[in-house]
Amino acid sequence: MQVPTLPAPDADWLAALDRDALHGAAHERAAEAWRLACEVHPQLPRPAAWFDLRGKGAGQAHFGRGGLRFNPQLLAENRLAFFTEVIPHEMAHWLVHHLAEGPQARPHGREWRHVMRALYGLEPRATHVFDTRTASPAPYRYRCACRDHFFSRRRHASARAGRDYFCRKCRNALVYKDCTVLRG
Ligand SMILES: [Zn+2]
Ligand SMILES: [Zn+2]
Repeated sequence: MQVPTLPAPDADWLAALDRDALHGAAHERAAEAWRLACEVHPQLPRPAAWFDLRGKGAGQAHFGRGGLRFNPQLLAENRLAFFTEVIPHEMAHWLVHHLAEGPQARPHGREWRHVMRALYGLEPRATHVFDTRTASPAPYRYRCACRDHFFSRRRHASARAGRDYFCRKCRNALVYKDCTVLRG
């Protein structure tokens, strides 16, 4: 049987989104993850999604508030990892909590691990490892006059070697700012 996973997000599209568009896209991704969960649990209530989590945590299922919280800073810096893993991870908590024996289940216990594998086709990991080599192919942040741009390792290497890149919108040269990997 084919595991009904979420579609793979497009890294270049994600990297180019501004803050509002990114949050909108994350909302939509959460909705997709929720619709997938509804295939096994049709009565699953739809969780709200907030971008108000700070510190080291990437995400949190908040049953009292009735939704999922995400860390906007880590989301902006680890877009692909959030879309691929963090959002389904939190939705799996949400789903397990709403199963009959869910509230008694351990947070990353057997039920949660099963949902991660069987529903989202993901290796269940309790912590998020934001690693450039696997999770975020474009972790190098560059700036022009109008926004952030994210470069892959290869593109970053050719910029370091002297190749100039320009923003298509404001036409300014892109200047290296920082590398956004390995937080949390
Ligand atoms: Zn978790
Ligand atoms: Zn620009």
